[in-house]
Amino acid sequence: MAKTFDVSGEGLYQHEIGNLNCQEGWCADEFPLLCKCGGLIHADFGDEDSSGDYWIYKKCDLCGENYEFAKDNWG
Ligand SMILES: [Zn+2]
Ligand SMILES: [Zn+2]
Repeated sequence: MAKTFDVSGEGLYQHEIGNLNCQEGWCADEFPLLCKCGGLIHADFGDEDSSGDYWIYKKCDLCGENYEFAKDNWG
């Protein structure tokens, strides 16, 4: 079994550490993306605000909240 971690902090999703094909939460779409630390930045659904906009949780599977998107993601 792959090691997993919680991105949203709510224990709702289990993201696979180091798996570029992680399918949990928002990872089924454009995530995970490369982090500058060499880890992967995973994403989970957040919530809607009163105007209908929503945000997503993002966390690196190596450096956690200190993630920084690597340039490689966009060539
Ligand atoms: Zn993931
Ligand atoms: Zn990182």
